[in-house]
Amino acid sequence: MKKVLLLVAALSLVLIFGACNDTAEVHVPAADSGISDDAGTTNANVTPDANVEGEIVYQIFSDNAFPPFHMLNPNTGEFYGFDVDLIEAIAADQGFRIERNHVGFAAALGALEAGIADGMIAGMSITEERRERFDFSEGYFVAGQILVVPRGSSISGFADLAGQTVAVKIGTVGSIFGEAMAEEYGFNLIFFEDSPTMYASVMLGSAAAAIEDRPVIEFEIYRSDLALQTVGETLNPRYYGFAVRRGEFPELIEMFNTGLANLRANGYYYEILARYGLALN
Ligand code: GLN
Repeated sequence: MKKVLLLVAALSLVLIFGACNDTAEVHVPAADSGISDDAGTTNANVTPDANVEGEIVYQIFSDNAFPPFHMLNPNTGEFYGFDVDLIEAIAADQGFRIERNHVGFAAALGALEAGIADGMIAGMSITEERRERFDFSEGYFVAGQILVVPRGSSISGFADLAGQTVAVKIGTVGSIFGEAMAEEYGFNLIFFEDSPTMYASVMLGSAAAAIEDRPVIEFEIYRSDLALQTVGETLNPRYYGFAVRRGEFPELIEMFNTGLANLRANGYYYEILARYGLALN
């Protein structure tokens, strides 16, 4: 009888903690932070978290709408995309455990700075200014920003935007560049939390243009047939990198770099580039 009771107790523990998360086997329960992971559950694990087997589970924070790097499959509630496949493949290759938290770009940046996130992968451009706060992996993709206007618009560059409103996304290099251009060309900025609402502001006319990473907006114009077009030259091309807080988790950066090199050598890196229609760069 005692044995049966113990078994029931053990099973219900597995059920309770097992249901919290689908990326780790059995989880130490944590206080509620209100931050959702991709399974829609909450987790607020202390950095770095360990499950009951004592394994470290790195909390990786990401954007939640940055196609084709981060996209939500509405049918499954799962996130997918180039960054998702890359970090999952690197973790598998290097044998470390991760939990993905798709919270949006500015929220992920904040979580990383606050020590809630251990690592961040979010189509994040490596810049000198960010290197003061974060350590980056090797670059894994190159992208710059571009001006986005309504399809058929006569706007062909920043010089046509004087007195108008330009949409940017909070925390991005596009927003920093936008601030400099706003001074120079005399336009106003409007800040958005995420890419889809920024695109909507241009389509609905509350902004005359937006600044977005070129491969992202071009993928989305094509995928969703948005009534938008890109104009002018690509601005500030930079590598995307995986980031940790400066001086923390050097092993994570090292494993990312080794894993990335392995995936390039075995061809998987090129397979996922092709999967999402991304050009080799
Ligand atoms: N690459 C841009 C940046 O790092 C935008 C990233 C994003 O919106 N996810 O600021």
